[in-house]
This record gives sequence, C-alpha cells and structure tokens, in this order.
Amino acid sequence: MMVDLHVHTYMSDGQHSPEDVVSMAWAKGVGLLAVTDHDAMDGLDEAEAAARRLGVGFVPGIEISAGAVGDGKLHILGYYVDRLDAALLRLNAEFARQREEREDMIYGRLRDKGIIISKERLRRNVKGRIVSRTHFARVLVEDGHAADFADAFDRYLSEPEMDRPKVSPERGIALIREAGGVAVMAHPSSLKMSHADLDDLAGRLAGMGLMGMECHYCSYGREETGRYAAIAEKHGLAVTGGSDFHGERVKPRVEIGTGIDGLLSFTDEGIGETLEKLRGGVGGRSAPKKGFKPIEA
Ligand code: AMP
Ligand code: MN
Ligand code: MN
Ligand code: MN
Repeated sequence: MMVDLHVHTYMSDGQHSPEDVVSMAWAKGVGLLAVTDHDAMDGLDEAEAAARRLGVGFVPGIEISAGAVGDGKLHILGYYVDRLDAALLRLNAEFARQREEREDMIYGRLRDKGIIISKERLRRNVKGRIVSRTHFARVLVEDGHAADFADAFDRYLSEPEMDRPKVSPERGIALIREAGGVAVMAHPSSLKMSHADLDDLAGRLAGMGLMGMECHYCSYGREETGRYAAIAEKHGLAVTGGSDFHGERVKPRVEIGTGIDGLLSFTDEGIGETLEKLRGGVGGRSAPKKGFKPIEA
C-alpha cells in the first residue's frame, strides 16, 4: 500500500484545499495519508472527513520548524497531536502573529525594489491563518516579476530575516509530546550533517522524546533512505516517509505518494498503527507533565 505521511494544504503554504489533497492522494492510490501543515491544524477536520468518505487511512499531523542546528534546519513532524491542545494552539497563534509582522516587512522590502503589492491582493489567496512567503511568490509570478516560485524565492524572498518563526528542538518535541503526539524528524537531509553528526543528533533528540525519522522522502534514493534508516534503527526511532507535497505550483516536481520522478516508495501500511502505539506509550496516552510551561516562542 502506498503511504504518504507528509503533505501540505492551503491552510499553510500548500496550493490545494485539504479535501482536494485527500482526493488527489486517493486518485494516486495512496492508502494511508497524513496532512502536516506548517504551524497549523486547521485543515485536519476537513481532510479527515474526506479521507473517511474515500476510504483513505488518515493520520492527523503538523510540521513545526525548530531552530537552526549547525548549517542546516530541523523540522519536526507531530503525528496524532490533539487538535485542541491549548499549548500547541497558542504556539500556532503566536507564529501566525509573527508571520503577520513579517508580511508587513516583506511589503516594504518589495516596495524598495519597486514592486507594489497591496495587502488586499495578497490576502485574497490566504485561506487559513497563515501568511506564507508562498503567497507572495504567487503574486510575484502572476505579475511577471518572477518566472516561478523558486525564482520568486531566489530573487525576493530569501533574506535571512524573512525566515519563518521557530522553536528550539526541545520545545518542539515537548510540545508535540504534551499534545499527545509522536515527534518525528522531517527530511533529515535538511540538516546538512555528516552521517556521524546526524547519528549523534538523532541520539540526543531521541533522549528528548523524538520517536521517528522521515527516512523516505520525495528526493531520496534507496541508498540515502538506507543510511537514515540505519540511524533510526540504532536509536529506536520509527522509520516514516512522505512526499512533502505542496502542489505543482509551489513544488512542481513533487507528486503526492511518489515524490520526485517516482523516487519515493514508502509502503509500510503498519506505520499508522505503530505511530498510534507510540503516541499512547505504555498503558495509554501520556499524561501531561505537571508544571509544563507552554511556550511563548
Ligand atoms: P514560509 O513558511 O512562509 O517562510 O515559507 C516557506 C515555504 O515556502 C517552505 O515551506 C516551502 O514550502 C516554500 N519554499 C521555500 N523555498 C522555496 C523555493 N525556492 N521554491 C518554492 N517554494 C519554496
Ligand atoms: Mn512548506
Ligand atoms: Mn519541512
Ligand atoms: Mn513539509
């Protein structure tokens, strides 16, 4: 069975509605799907209802950006998080607020370059609570300032201070765990680490509560997946996989279920059950830790 545990909808920076993403997955033959929007859980109810209608297995998720680790970036996927978890909702709201501040800054930076985009125009395409740089990229392409999304990012949207808000790895993992979820390291290649350093980091993150690693990814070949899987196994982390599908306009080569040029081949249909078990821990869902302080990141 084709499994894809990493897709985005227009509730964050994806192109399609949650319902459409599920339909597309179903049409491609994906039997188990996770929706993992950045800093948002708003698409999960709609996606879950669509998945139930179509008979697609569904795993609710989220993707959180953790601080830069070395030269690379650490993203953490949270599976089976409680959509009503107060601390996680507070974090999402705070990140949405920071993104609004960034939005105002980006209008200014573009104006300095002679490009005027009105807030009204930009907001027309914002369906969720998050204003993403991809919303700017879309308008920049529509107005002929960039050839495609990648070009828009290269030319206008890659200044360091435009980076999205982040939590520390510890906080990211703790938040997901406290929300009853399973924390999984996304696309380990983004960390840009040597095998030995990644091995070391995975061990430390496992000590903080990390439970899985996304060893299968849209762009990984068999050999690369094997290297990550060896690290995952060593540290007792579940091996997961997903395409990171955002829609053809945002990431033109990445297809749902199969990734880039069919490189993704993740077929572990037991992974949903494995994640559900991990979420529960021994003897049921882990109780919130006493004195846990929600994060005002
Ligand atoms: P934001 O979360 O608003 O800071 O926007 C970052 C998102 O934009 C990433 O999660 C990607 O989905 C997308 N993105 C980043 N770089 C590029 C690029 N070069 N081309 C297309 N999309 C990109
Ligand atoms: Mn994205
Ligand atoms: Mn990511
Ligand atoms: Mn992603």
